[in-house]
Amino acid sequence: MPNSKLRTLGFAFLFSALTFSAAQQNPQPTAATPVKVTEVDLNAIHPDPQIAEALKQISPGRIRAIIEKLVTFKNRNTLSSNDQEMISQGLGVTAAAKWIQEEFERYSQACGGCLQVKTDSFTQPVATRVPTPTPLTNVYAVLQGTDPENAKRIYLVTGHYDSRNSDTLNTKDEAPGANDDASGTAVSLECARVLSKYKFPATLIFLSVAGEEQGLDGAKHFAQMARHEGWDIQGVLNNDIVGGNTTPGDTLQRKDTVRVFSEGIPASAKPEDVTRMRNLGGENDSPSRELARYIRSTAKEYLPEFQPTLIFRRDRFLRGGDHTAFNEEGFAGVRFTEYREDFNHQHQNVRTENGIEYGDVPKFVDFAYVANVARMNAAALTSLASAPASPATVRIETRGLTNDTTLNWEASPGGLANSYQILWRDTDQPYWQHAMSAPAGSSITLPISKDNVVFAVRALDAKGHASLPVVPRPRGRIEAPGGNSAASSGM
Ligand SMILES: [Zn+2]
Repeated sequence: MPNSKLRTLGFAFLFSALTFSAAQQNPQPTAATPVKVTEVDLNAIHPDPQIAEALKQISPGRIRAIIEKLVTFKNRNTLSSNDQEMISQGLGVTAAAKWIQEEFERYSQACGGCLQVKTDSFTQPVATRVPTPTPLTNVYAVLQGTDPENAKRIYLVTGHYDSRNSDTLNTKDEAPGANDDASGTAVSLECARVLSKYKFPATLIFLSVAGEEQGLDGAKHFAQMARHEGWDIQGVLNNDIVGGNTTPGDTLQRKDTVRVFSEGIPASAKPEDVTRMRNLGGENDSPSRELARYIRSTAKEYLPEFQPTLIFRRDRFLRGGDHTAFNEEGFAGVRFTEYREDFNHQHQNVRTENGIEYGDVPKFVDFAYVANVARMNAAALTSLASAPASPATVRIETRGLTNDTTLNWEASPGGLANSYQILWRDTDQPYWQHAMSAPAGSSITLPISKDNVVFAVRALDAKGHASLPVVPRPRGRIEAPGGNSAASSGM
């Protein structure tokens, strides 16, 4: 059941308010008296010293060493797991997977065995870019949460360690993949090395997948496994091409920001969910988009000079990524990618033609930039893993016509919540604009019309770590058949 809660995040308020019928039945106004609005400053900064200390340990030098090591495997094409010549030379994707696993194990030894290092190995069947059945291995490390109830919540960071050159099927010629995606792999590994020195109530997973270039094969397998095993993954941070490409003479690259892509209408939305969005809005409040907003708020808290540029679309034109494989299975997930890509330095044979250098080689990667991306990931991961679970079953009353708004919620499970906040923003605004502490209890009526703003509720612990916010679903006189749980599945 844990995933059902995840799937209600954000979109929940779309359910069931069939206003045409409500109007026909001449509804009575709700009676609750609104409280005075007393806002708290959403821009106030309250960094957690432990998180700030962790971020300082993320090292551009370590990231450089990881990327340069991955390049030494010459060609990490997923299909090279069938290339015996490459394997016998200690090259290719198989050797890279082994090295990543050993690296995770080394980090684990340094923290007294705190990481569970695992592999997810399978044979990828024949597909468009997979001409023969191909062994594929995802490698991951689990930093189990310290609180049994909260440890069920998982936050995951990933990058793909496979690479390619101009030919998707080539397994022998250089395919350094320094930016695409040794950089994202380095983010996952460096987060594992640093964050394994700390303890959090919720669980973190550091993942490195293969098969991305052949069709997101590794991520699809992992996400399906997580779904079938009922893992409560509440956020996926996919890092793909986060090298901060530095082409001599390029004046348009930006080193002070990274793009964070998030889907609007979820890949897993059912037709009835889309119908509700058409009636009530909500296409800008998917769980993935709330995750993106959360990343922005933790970056403001910890990285004042390096901020995300949120892109309100699933991915770039003509391109895909592993976060989508997680979205398809109903998990919230976003993609980090450098601000401006140089397509001469991706998916290209290493060569010089007419004075132009082609190829994804380390000299175009800015290791300090990758470190900043890793810090942005780590700020979000540590904040989420420290925070209480989101409040459960958040509802907005739609029993009658009123210009006030009544919100109800059930306590955040897991016992970490110390207080709750109501967030809201105008419907034409991208980010949460207003916040107010909720009084004791699990209900509030505000003199603000729900027709004019988007509301959400979040839980905070005693130190101020905030959960992902939950956008309420309506509870009116017309409820979808089956009530809460039946209606909330499948988001
Ligand atoms: Zn990639």
